[in-house]
Amino acid sequence: MMAEYRIGHGFDVHRLVPDRKLILGGVEIPYHLGLKGHSDADVLIHAVCDAMLGALALGDIGKLFPDTDTRYEGVSSLLLLEEVVDRVTKEGYKVSNIDVTVVAEAPKLAPHIEKMRQTLCNALRTDIPEVSIKATTTEGLGFSGRGEGVSATCVVLLARG
Ligand code: MG
Repeated sequence: MMAEYRIGHGFDVHRLVPDRKLILGGVEIPYHLGLKGHSDADVLIHAVCDAMLGALALGDIGKLFPDTDTRYEGVSSLLLLEEVVDRVTKEGYKVSNIDVTVVAEAPKLAPHIEKMRQTLCNALRTDIPEVSIKATTTEGLGFSGRGEGVSATCVVLLARG
């Protein structure tokens, strides 16, 4: 039998390109670039999904939602997260708490963090104090610093019951 608590880690990167909406944590953020990907490319939610799947050693979202599957084309990543939450619930676990870091040079994410927390909170069927979202930059260094892409990391603690 698996332990009462299980920890998981997720990491994801998507490229910033023109003519795409910027969706982070299920929230549309006004910006002249958006993230490129098969779904809506919500890098934050992808990191959360992978952390949750990782916590129970269930693989990753690439395995669950292959980009060869046209059902997931342009789809909101919140739907993917819902499926992951269903999977985790079926295994007998729920989110104890989650901590996310988004790395983006621009735009400023601070004004959108509370809405992202609320959106994630609903999707995860948990309470606001259990959902932490932070944003940082890399001080102009690397792909993120040059504004070529956005990355996100997530750790999650799942509890049985
Ligand atoms: Mg992704």
